Amino acid sequence: MAKYSCKNCGAELFFDPKKGKLHCDYCGTDYDPSEYAYKPEPDAAAGAAKDQTIAQPGNEGTGADAAATDEKATDDSTGNLVVYKCPNCGAEVITSKDTVATTCVYCNRAITLEGNLAGTFRPDYVVPFEKDRKDVEAAYLSLCKKSILTPRLFTKQATIKKIKGMYIPYWLYSFDGDASIQVLGKNTRMWTTGDTEFTETSSYSVSEEATGSFRYIPADALKGMDNVLMDSIEPFDFSKMKSFNPAFLAGFYTQKWDDDSKTNEPRAKNRAKESLANAAMANVGSFDEMHIQQENFTWTNNKAEYAMLPLWMMYTEYKGKNYIFGMNGQTGKIMGKIPKDPMRIAEIIGGVLIISQIIMMIIRVLGVM
Ligand SMILES: [Zn+2]
Ligand SMILES: [Zn+2]
Repeated sequence: MAKYSCKNCGAELFFDPKKGKLHCDYCGTDYDPSEYAYKPEPDAAAGAAKDQTIAQPGNEGTGADAAATDEKATDDSTGNLVVYKCPNCGAEVITSKDTVATTCVYCNRAITLEGNLAGTFRPDYVVPFEKDRKDVEAAYLSLCKKSILTPRLFTKQATIKKIKGMYIPYWLYSFDGDASIQVLGKNTRMWTTGDTEFTETSSYSVSEEATGSFRYIPADALKGMDNVLMDSIEPFDFSKMKSFNPAFLAGFYTQKWDDDSKTNEPRAKNRAKESLANAAMANVGSFDEMHIQQENFTWTNNKAEYAMLPLWMMYTEYKGKNYIFGMNGQTGKIMGKIPKDPMRIAEIIGGVLIISQIIMMIIRVLGVM
């Protein structure tokens, strides 16, 4: 378990999205995550990484041997739970066996399970949080105020119960693509001479090619997630992506991928196909009728990289019901919906359901909240 302690006062550090640094609440010192060097373990079976620069009471190892199952708390997607002893307060933290980062429910200590960051589970990149808890609350409240459909009391009475930041494991695909398409174009001309109507049809066979370089097309790496819904979290700004360092996870929750890069590759390729085909078609010219006769795509320089992308989740309660919101942790794009006036519910129920679905899916799959 890697710990991020203040080199000044020894207190625990958490990643501060506003500063992009590890921050000490006690003495106010900030540290660049790179100051806590990351030495990845070569294989998943290795024990906990022991970073000598970080004081750590009671090394407990990974706790992987102390695996315990709890039928009640087990969710259907992961099945196995493990118990880790918090190195700070000694309490037992129950978590999914796939957990990479979490916090102790008793003392809030950030816990990183390095064994789940080893080998093929070692992320290449992280898109750090830029929005913090206050941003989540503010965005939510302004959404409530803006909507004329919001029941008046909701804004006042809804109580924010929980805000949780998490990293979702994603595959990022990069490749070059070539498309060649063959299109049959038809033009029809009609005219009348005297009593006779003439129709002339001209056919053209047109071949066009388009090439493109694609960089970081994202696809979530969790089996239980609905792919179409997960795509709605986008876009992310990958120009601000950093090389992975678990220091970025301090205070957040995440788990390792369970859906491999090969399985998800077609999602990225389909997006690329569409944009290449559109580019090629743009050069074909215009005809009265067009039929694509042949389409060929070739891909080179294929690369799949593993990245952690940030998401905030918020839980509120209104009249005994729970409402859940999601926000892109980098851009602040809100995914949640506020409860609507029943008079208008029929119109917008679709949108609300989709949002609830995605949030419930995240909760189910990640086992958080
Ligand atoms: Zn300090
Ligand atoms: Zn603890």
